[in-house]
Amino acid sequence: TKKLLQVEELQTEFTRDKQKTRILHGVNFHINEGEVLGLVGESGCGKSLTSLSIMRLFQGTTGEITNGNIYFNDSNLVNLSDYEMRKLRGKQMAMIFQDPMTSLNPVMKIGKQLTEPIRVHLKLSKSEARVHAIAMLTKVGIARPDEIVDEYPHQLSGGMRQRVMIAMAMSCNPNLLIADEPTTALDVTIQAQILELMKKLQKDEKMSILLITHDLGVVAEMCDRVVVMYAGKVVEEASVYELFENPKHPYSKGLIASVPKLGEKKDKLDSIKGNVPNPSNMPKGCKFAPRCNMAMPICHEQEPACLAIENDRLCSCWLYELETR
Ligand code: SF4
Ligand code: MG
Repeated sequence: TKKLLQVEELQTEFTRDKQKTRILHGVNFHINEGEVLGLVGESGCGKSLTSLSIMRLFQGTTGEITNGNIYFNDSNLVNLSDYEMRKLRGKQMAMIFQDPMTSLNPVMKIGKQLTEPIRVHLKLSKSEARVHAIAMLTKVGIARPDEIVDEYPHQLSGGMRQRVMIAMAMSCNPNLLIADEPTTALDVTIQAQILELMKKLQKDEKMSILLITHDLGVVAEMCDRVVVMYAGKVVEEASVYELFENPKHPYSKGLIASVPKLGEKKDKLDSIKGNVPNPSNMPKGCKFAPRCNMAMPICHEQEPACLAIENDRLCSCWLYELETR
């Protein structure tokens, strides 16, 4: 297997009143070609910022990458100019969000929105682009695509808008699709349809997907491997099967335990007490220590390293670090 993306010691900061706040504290993971990687954790753990850093989509904010490398195909993205990144986005990597309205222009017809990027990247004429747009809408399962191209986003249902956004993301055949909570806003039936569509496109086009979600049910359905993030760092990495079967990090254990079993009614995340720490006031030592029921004295003093445990698994926790010494 070949690595498509490798994120190494990624560090991202925001500046406010000349004060820098670090949100990503050295994130490490990779995605293989044709793989679906899940990035999970509660909101505020840095999942979305990790993807925005990869895409370099900090528009209107003070976000900047202050350390680390992002290898993609054969280049290191942190060394590319904004112009080079713009060329890469949409063509080699594309992103879809929870709310399609953040990427759809409300006053532009669907067809025009779909064809503009296609025309730029693929150098198509206006009529060729329209044919391509209709083909893309058909591919994402939209009925009456020749009529939909002449409609505005508000005329479509939430599920259809999400399909349009996927069509836009797929229109230039990206190697990597980053999907940030793509189905969170949709009802269960539509969610299942959208996930199925993404899975089919991923197989057909042999692309890789970085799937960001707080929903472990979606992870089980879609992913090959999972990276668990907490407080701006990766705390565990494992195959989906192993993570669900035998989570190692106490935070992962809490996440898995909070997934309601069939027929069981449960409040979200009721098995992890407390909150994600404030980035400007991080606890000393292991960032999870204030919430961890396994915490030992060393946990409050020193941060554990992220180490390989067993076959292809990584975990950042003193429980295993002390064990392997
Ligand atoms: Fe809990 Fe300590 Fe492991 Fe952190 S290092 S997760 S506090 S046991
Ligand atoms: Mg998010």
